[in-house]
Amino acid sequence: MSHVRKKMVAGNWKMNGNRALLEQFKQHLIVPDNTDVVLCPPAVYLANAVGSHYKVGAQNISEHEKGAHTGDISCSMLNDLAVHYVILGHSERRQDHNESNELVAQKVKCALNAGLTPIFCIGEPLEVRESGEVFAFVQAQIDAVVNICGNEFFEKAVIAYEPIWAIGTGKTASPEQAQEVHAFIRTHLSKTNSDAQKMQILYGGSVNADNAAELFAQADIDGGLIGGASLKVDDFNIICQAAG
Ligand code: PEP
Repeated sequence: MSHVRKKMVAGNWKMNGNRALLEQFKQHLIVPDNTDVVLCPPAVYLANAVGSHYKVGAQNISEHEKGAHTGDISCSMLNDLAVHYVILGHSERRQDHNESNELVAQKVKCALNAGLTPIFCIGEPLEVRESGEVFAFVQAQIDAVVNICGNEFFEKAVIAYEPIWAIGTGKTASPEQAQEVHAFIRTHLSKTNSDAQKMQILYGGSVNADNAAELFAQADIDGGLIGGASLKVDDFNIICQAAG
Protein backbone atom coordinates (compact mmCIF):
# COMPACT_ATOMS: atom_id res chain seq x y z
CA MET A 1 0.00 0.00 0.00
CA SER A 2 1.45 3.39 -0.91
CA HIS A 3 1.26 6.31 1.50
CA VAL A 4 1.12 10.02 0.79
CA ARG A 5 3.92 11.53 2.81
CA LYS A 6 4.27 15.21 3.57
CA LYS A 7 7.38 16.72 2.00
CA MET A 8 10.01 18.46 4.14
CA VAL A 9 12.83 20.86 3.37
CA ALA A 10 15.30 21.62 6.15
CA GLY A 11 18.03 24.25 5.86
CA ASN A 12 21.26 23.51 7.72
CA TRP A 13 23.13 26.78 8.04
CA LYS A 14 26.05 25.04 9.77
CA MET A 15 28.38 27.75 11.20
CA ASN A 16 27.17 30.40 8.76
CA GLY A 17 24.73 33.26 8.77
CA ASN A 18 24.01 36.16 11.08
CA ARG A 19 21.09 38.16 12.42
CA ALA A 20 20.68 40.06 9.17
CA LEU A 21 20.30 36.81 7.22
CA LEU A 22 17.76 35.57 9.72
CA GLU A 23 15.74 38.77 9.24
CA GLN A 24 15.75 38.16 5.46
CA PHE A 25 14.37 34.66 6.00
CA LYS A 26 11.72 35.91 8.41
CA GLN A 27 10.54 38.38 5.80
CA HIS A 28 10.97 36.49 2.54
CA LEU A 29 10.86 32.75 3.17
CA ILE A 30 7.77 31.24 1.55
CA VAL A 31 6.38 28.06 3.13
CA PRO A 32 4.35 26.09 0.57
CA ASP A 33 1.17 24.27 1.65
CA ASN A 34 1.74 20.66 2.61
CA THR A 35 5.47 21.12 3.17
CA ASP A 36 7.36 21.23 6.45
CA VAL A 37 10.03 23.92 6.16
CA VAL A 38 12.60 23.84 8.95
CA LEU A 39 15.38 26.36 9.47
CA CYS A 40 18.41 25.18 11.48
CA PRO A 41 20.61 28.20 12.24
CA PRO A 42 23.54 28.15 14.68
CA ALA A 43 22.46 27.75 18.31
CA VAL A 44 23.02 31.39 19.26
CA TYR A 45 20.32 32.45 16.77
CA LEU A 46 17.66 29.90 17.79
CA ALA A 47 15.91 32.23 20.23
CA ASN A 48 15.65 34.78 17.45
CA ALA A 49 14.53 32.25 14.85
CA VAL A 50 11.48 30.80 16.66
CA GLY A 51 7.95 32.18 16.55
CA SER A 52 7.81 32.76 12.81
CA HIS A 53 5.97 31.00 9.96
CA TYR A 54 8.55 28.20 9.51
CA LYS A 55 9.71 25.51 11.94
CA VAL A 56 13.05 25.64 13.71
CA GLY A 57 15.70 23.03 14.41
CA ALA A 58 19.01 22.92 16.27
CA GLN A 59 22.19 21.43 14.82
CA ASN A 60 23.23 19.40 17.89
CA ILE A 61 22.34 18.50 21.47
CA SER A 62 24.16 17.02 24.42
CA GLU A 63 23.47 13.38 25.23
CA HIS A 64 23.25 14.47 28.87
CA GLU A 65 20.18 15.93 30.53
CA LYS A 66 22.05 18.72 32.36
CA GLY A 67 25.12 19.42 34.43
CA ALA A 68 28.82 20.14 34.07
CA HIS A 69 29.13 20.07 30.28
CA THR A 70 30.54 23.45 29.31
CA GLY A 71 29.42 24.65 25.92
CA ASP A 72 26.72 22.02 25.47
CA ILE A 73 22.99 22.52 24.99
CA SER A 74 20.31 20.26 26.46
CA CYS A 75 17.03 19.05 25.01
CA SER A 76 15.06 20.84 27.73
CA MET A 77 16.68 24.14 26.70
CA LEU A 78 15.43 23.59 23.16
CA ASN A 79 11.98 22.75 24.50
CA ASP A 80 12.11 25.95 26.49
CA LEU A 81 12.58 27.91 23.25
CA ALA A 82 9.93 25.92 21.32
CA VAL A 83 12.57 24.48 18.97
CA HIS A 84 11.03 21.28 17.61
CA TYR A 85 13.74 19.58 15.51
CA VAL A 86 17.39 18.71 15.92
CA ILE A 87 19.90 17.52 13.31
CA LEU A 88 21.79 14.51 14.70
CA GLY A 89 24.57 12.37 13.26
CA HIS A 90 25.54 14.90 10.61
CA SER A 91 28.74 13.70 8.94
CA GLU A 92 30.55 16.89 9.97
CA ARG A 93 29.88 16.13 13.64
CA ARG A 94 30.81 12.49 13.13
CA GLN A 95 34.11 13.65 11.59
CA ASP A 96 34.98 16.82 13.51
CA HIS A 97 33.79 15.63 16.93
CA ASN A 98 34.33 11.88 16.64
CA GLU A 99 30.63 11.14 17.10
CA SER A 100 30.25 7.37 16.88
CA ASN A 101 27.11 5.50 15.82
CA GLU A 102 26.51 4.73 19.50
CA LEU A 103 26.86 8.34 20.66
CA VAL A 104 24.54 9.51 17.88
CA ALA A 105 22.06 6.83 18.98
CA GLN A 106 22.23 8.14 22.58
CA LYS A 107 21.49 11.64 21.31
CA VAL A 108 18.56 10.38 19.24
CA LYS A 109 17.21 8.71 22.39
CA CYS A 110 17.53 11.94 24.41
CA ALA A 111 15.79 13.92 21.69
CA LEU A 112 12.92 11.43 21.42
CA ASN A 113 12.49 11.32 25.20
CA ALA A 114 12.25 15.11 25.22
CA GLY A 115 9.67 15.18 22.42
CA LEU A 116 12.07 16.70 19.87
CA THR A 117 12.07 15.35 16.31
CA PRO A 118 15.55 14.16 15.30
CA ILE A 119 16.66 14.71 11.71
CA PHE A 120 18.90 11.66 11.83
CA CYS A 121 21.68 11.79 9.21
CA ILE A 122 23.35 8.80 7.63
CA GLY A 123 25.50 8.35 4.57
CA GLU A 124 28.63 6.77 3.23
CA PRO A 125 32.08 8.14 2.36
CA LEU A 126 33.37 7.81 -1.20
CA GLU A 127 35.47 4.70 -0.53
CA VAL A 128 32.40 2.84 0.71
CA ARG A 129 30.41 3.89 -2.36
CA GLU A 130 33.26 2.70 -4.57
CA SER A 131 33.54 -0.63 -2.78
CA GLY A 132 29.82 -1.28 -3.26
CA GLU A 133 29.09 -1.51 0.48
CA VAL A 134 26.62 1.37 0.75
CA PHE A 135 23.64 -0.64 2.03
CA ALA A 136 25.64 -2.39 4.76
CA PHE A 137 27.15 0.95 5.83
CA VAL A 138 23.87 2.84 6.19
CA GLN A 139 22.19 -0.20 7.74
CA ALA A 140 24.83 -0.23 10.51
CA GLN A 141 24.17 3.47 11.16
CA ILE A 142 20.42 2.84 11.38
CA ASP A 143 20.69 -0.33 13.44
CA ALA A 144 22.81 1.44 16.07
CA VAL A 145 19.77 3.65 16.71
CA VAL A 146 17.27 0.78 16.51
CA ASN A 147 19.33 -1.11 19.13
CA ILE A 148 19.06 1.75 21.62
CA CYS A 149 15.71 3.33 20.74
CA GLY A 150 13.70 0.37 19.40
CA ASN A 151 12.43 -0.05 15.86
CA GLU A 152 9.66 2.48 16.35
CA PHE A 153 12.14 5.37 16.68
CA PHE A 154 11.54 6.47 13.10
CA GLU A 155 7.85 7.02 13.74
CA LYS A 156 8.93 10.21 15.51
CA ALA A 157 12.08 10.94 13.54
CA VAL A 158 13.11 12.05 10.07
CA ILE A 159 15.98 10.31 8.30
CA ALA A 160 18.33 12.26 6.03
CA TYR A 161 20.42 10.24 3.60
CA GLU A 162 23.51 12.33 2.85
CA PRO A 163 26.33 10.63 0.96
CA ILE A 164 29.45 12.32 2.36
CA TRP A 165 31.03 12.65 -1.08
CA ALA A 166 28.09 14.82 -2.14
CA ILE A 167 28.07 17.21 0.84
CA GLY A 168 29.34 20.66 -0.03
CA THR A 169 31.14 19.30 -3.09
CA GLY A 170 28.71 20.28 -5.84
CA LYS A 171 28.61 16.55 -6.73
CA THR A 172 25.01 15.45 -6.28
CA ALA A 173 23.98 11.82 -6.19
CA SER A 174 21.90 11.11 -9.27
CA PRO A 175 18.17 10.84 -8.56
CA GLU A 176 18.46 7.09 -9.26
CA GLN A 177 21.43 6.64 -6.88
CA ALA A 178 19.60 8.50 -4.12
CA GLN A 179 16.29 6.71 -4.73
CA GLU A 180 18.00 3.33 -4.57
CA VAL A 181 19.34 4.03 -1.07
CA HIS A 182 16.09 5.63 0.14
CA ALA A 183 14.14 2.56 -1.00
CA PHE A 184 16.66 0.33 0.77
CA ILE A 185 16.26 2.30 4.03
CA ARG A 186 12.47 2.13 3.88
CA THR A 187 12.46 -1.56 3.02
CA HIS A 188 14.94 -2.34 5.80
CA LEU A 189 12.83 -0.57 8.43
CA SER A 190 9.57 -1.95 6.99
CA LYS A 191 10.73 -5.49 7.77
CA THR A 192 10.04 -4.89 11.43
CA ASN A 193 7.54 -2.01 11.35
CA SER A 194 5.03 -1.25 8.61
CA ASP A 195 4.93 2.41 9.71
CA ALA A 196 8.20 2.88 7.82
CA GLN A 197 5.98 3.60 4.82
CA LYS A 198 4.97 6.86 6.53
CA MET A 199 8.50 7.99 7.44
CA GLN A 200 9.97 11.09 5.82
CA ILE A 201 13.37 10.34 4.25
CA LEU A 202 15.23 13.42 3.05
CA TYR A 203 18.10 13.55 0.59
CA GLY A 204 21.06 15.83 1.30
CA GLY A 205 24.20 16.56 -0.70
CA SER A 206 24.57 19.57 -3.00
CA VAL A 207 20.84 20.02 -3.54
CA ASN A 208 20.26 23.34 -5.27
CA ALA A 209 17.59 25.33 -7.07
CA ASP A 210 18.32 23.50 -10.34
CA ASN A 211 18.34 19.87 -9.22
CA ALA A 212 15.82 19.82 -6.34
CA ALA A 213 12.68 19.09 -8.38
CA GLU A 214 14.12 16.00 -10.05
CA LEU A 215 15.42 14.59 -6.78
CA PHE A 216 12.18 15.29 -4.91
CA ALA A 217 10.16 13.59 -7.66
CA GLN A 218 11.62 10.18 -6.75
CA ALA A 219 9.23 7.78 -5.06
CA ASP A 220 11.07 7.52 -1.74
CA ILE A 221 12.61 11.00 -1.54
CA ASP A 222 10.41 13.10 0.71
CA GLY A 223 12.36 16.36 0.51
CA GLY A 224 15.84 17.57 1.31
CA LEU A 225 18.36 18.63 3.91
CA ILE A 226 20.04 21.62 2.35
CA GLY A 227 23.40 23.12 3.32
CA GLY A 228 24.96 25.76 1.05
CA ALA A 229 21.78 26.57 -0.86
CA SER A 230 19.89 27.26 2.39
CA LEU A 231 21.92 30.45 2.89
CA LYS A 232 20.24 32.32 0.04
CA VAL A 233 16.57 32.93 0.58
CA ASP A 234 15.74 33.04 -3.15
CA ASP A 235 17.41 29.70 -3.84
CA PHE A 236 15.91 28.17 -0.73
CA ASN A 237 12.45 29.34 -1.78
CA ILE A 238 12.84 27.62 -5.16
CA ILE A 239 13.88 24.41 -3.39
CA CYS A 240 10.91 24.62 -1.01
CA GLN A 241 8.61 25.20 -3.96
CA ALA A 242 10.04 22.11 -5.70
CA ALA A 243 8.88 20.11 -2.68
CA GLY A 244 5.45 21.70 -2.35
C1 PEP B 1 24.46 19.32 4.62
O1 PEP B 1 25.40 19.82 5.21
O2 PEP B 1 23.60 18.69 5.26
C2 PEP B 1 24.41 19.45 3.17
C3 PEP B 1 23.63 18.66 2.51
O3 PEP B 1 25.23 20.41 2.59
P1 PEP B 1 25.24 20.89 1.06
O4 PEP B 1 23.80 21.05 0.64
O5 PEP B 1 26.00 22.15 1.05
O6 PEP B 1 25.90 19.79 0.27
